Amino acid sequence: MTNYDAIIIGTGQAGPFLAGRLAGAGRKVAIIERKLFGGTCVNTGCTPTKAMVASAYAAHLTHRAAEYGVMVSGAISTDMKAVKARKDAIAGKSRIGIETWLKGMQNCTVYQSHARFESRKEIRVGSELLSSDLIFINVGGRAVVPSLPGVNAVPYLTNSSLMEVDFLPRRLVIVGGSYIGLEFGQMFRRFGSEVTILEMGPHLVRREDEDISQAIEAIMGQEGIDVRLNSKCIGLSPHSEGVRVTADCAEGSLEVIGSHVLLAVGRRPNTDDLGLEKAGVATDHRGYIGVDEQLRTNVPGIWALGDCNGRGAFTHTAYNDYEIVAANLLDGDSRRVSDRITAYNLYIDPPLGRAGLTETEARKSTRNPLIGQRPMTRVRRAVEKGETNGFIKILVDGDSKQILGAAILGMEGDEVIHCVLDLMYAKAHYTVMQRAMHIHPTVAELLPTILGELKPLTSMAPKATLAA
Ligand SMILES: Cc1cc2nc3c(=O)[nH]c(=O)nc-3n(C[C@H](O)[C@H](O)[C@H](O)COP(=O)(O)OP(=O)(O)OC[C@H]3O[C@@H](n4cnc5c(N)ncnc54)[C@H](O)[C@@H]3O)c2cc1C
Repeated sequence: MTNYDAIIIGTGQAGPFLAGRLAGAGRKVAIIERKLFGGTCVNTGCTPTKAMVASAYAAHLTHRAAEYGVMVSGAISTDMKAVKARKDAIAGKSRIGIETWLKGMQNCTVYQSHARFESRKEIRVGSELLSSDLIFINVGGRAVVPSLPGVNAVPYLTNSSLMEVDFLPRRLVIVGGSYIGLEFGQMFRRFGSEVTILEMGPHLVRREDEDISQAIEAIMGQEGIDVRLNSKCIGLSPHSEGVRVTADCAEGSLEVIGSHVLLAVGRRPNTDDLGLEKAGVATDHRGYIGVDEQLRTNVPGIWALGDCNGRGAFTHTAYNDYEIVAANLLDGDSRRVSDRITAYNLYIDPPLGRAGLTETEARKSTRNPLIGQRPMTRVRRAVEKGETNGFIKILVDGDSKQILGAAILGMEGDEVIHCVLDLMYAKAHYTVMQRAMHIHPTVAELLPTILGELKPLTSMAPKATLAA
């Protein structure tokens, strides 16, 4: 048995950075990876999808070239082998970078195998047994395969297997109309596939306000994506051209023949094959490891970071978990999970940038909520660029004068949202930004204007927004 000062399981978005800090502090560290260095984000999540979103944007803009006075002669087509090669090169560079960094790290030993608990202080890796008083779990998650009738009788894709596709699916049926399904749906439509999205609920991206869901549905519709809401009783069966997908939808029953089917109905944590029961580490009914404000599990000496603890589902939340653990263990700085503000993007085009509360949540959370809004058609920069889909809304607490949240569905929304986010972290009054001089022409220059036009939210009916 080999003893270490710390053992880290998984090389996702928290583990490698924690290894770097611990090893740099002179601790003897073991880090274990069973598959690809860098985990989901680098290999099958953020990086490859955003590289492909960029290819899809190029295709889309090329189709629109004449609107800008640029003439493209001949047929426009997408070379999926080239799209994949570009994506692989970008993701591969990150993966190799992490692997090389970890393997060259002083005080750090890398194991490439599946890790499993033998006891609360012991981890089995292949034929080796490692022990430590400090164990950090960073095992991430994987796509849920729902138990739909016929699912095991047909070939299906997940976000991972889709990364290997180097051809154009003729007709892609996507089960799930949330963040991952929408990104892939718009992307493949722009590459040239026919796309149908089946969403079980009454709206796309159900967690968002209804006006946002409706605006996104309109954007998908503009591009010729067939969105079917309230799709109940989805069933799959083999068909000579691929897969027959049936559903009862809001508009009646549906049968669509897909050349390929993508399942995008959520994620589950990789905690079912970790031997957690041998260590006594508690999980909830979905397998997420329970943690406190400092990411400590119920077992002293064991922490859980990233997607597997259910306290976040993003790269930035996993990385923030690392920062919290490192601050508490190494810096004597008591950072906590509850210090962070909800923030994420949906990378369709235009993107949705989100921070803090939704409008629905704001209505419930404060006695005096205010709202400021503006459609992108009234943002000069968007008009100049010919990208006027979407709208901005900012929510403010009229009593404390602090910003409660914002949604920016529009060009550059994924970047502009950080203006709002940083003001929220500063706990500053909204008047700070209202009086700031922003640069023209930008999307962000309208934020002070919007904050100068706040209205009581309670005087407006839900959904009475600019999307209508
Ligand atoms: C299609 C898609 C797009 C996404 N886009 C974004 C985005 O744009 N922005 C964003 O912030 N987030 C995005 N995400 C989410 C993001 O990828 C995850 O939140 C993030 O990767 C979580 O990091 P993690 O460190 O928790 O786990 P992971 O990155 O999943 O890493 C876990 C690692 O642990 C390893 N492992 C698991 N079990 C064991 C074991 N028993 N032994 C050894 N090793 C093990 C795995 O092989 C893996 O390498 C996306 C996800 C998907 C699926």
